[in-house]
Amino acid sequence: MAKKGDKWLKHTWEFETTEDPYAMKEAPAGEAVCPRCKSVFKDKRWFMDEELAEELLEAENVPKLLCPGCRKALESYAMGYLYISGEFWKTHRDDIMRLINNEVEKARGLNPLHQIINIVDDGETTIIETTTDHLAQRLGRALYRAYKGDLEFRWSKGDKLVRVYWKR
Ligand SMILES: [Zn+2]
Repeated sequence: MAKKGDKWLKHTWEFETTEDPYAMKEAPAGEAVCPRCKSVFKDKRWFMDEELAEELLEAENVPKLLCPGCRKALESYAMGYLYISGEFWKTHRDDIMRLINNEVEKARGLNPLHQIINIVDDGETTIIETTTDHLAQRLGRALYRAYKGDLEFRWSKGDKLVRVYWKR
């Protein structure tokens, strides 16, 4: 019995330390809409639906709530970092940013939790902070697919925070 107890405790500890704290906050009972990114909440999940969002934003009895993605973005809770550098990046910024924005839209179509929090440029490297580890990885892969270059992933302990490096 003691063994079982240990196992359970260990599992719980891992769960608590690696879990995304924003995923567990209380959910609204019915429909809701996020006034910041216009994602909608229905059937216990957030998703993108522009028409429904407009309708819910106008409805008086529907709560206007910041979605988990927007809360993370506003509180700068980054779980992914994409580092972009190299000569090719410097000379193809516009094309590359267009690709990144397209990819973000696609990811948000699947789950509005995926957002870019901030883009920081230190002259050599541009750092894109993302609300999810998934989005940083997805952007890195998209860059590599389109332009090759060097792609590297580095995970933190617990695998919940990823640093993605793309250089060309
Ligand atoms: Zn939102």
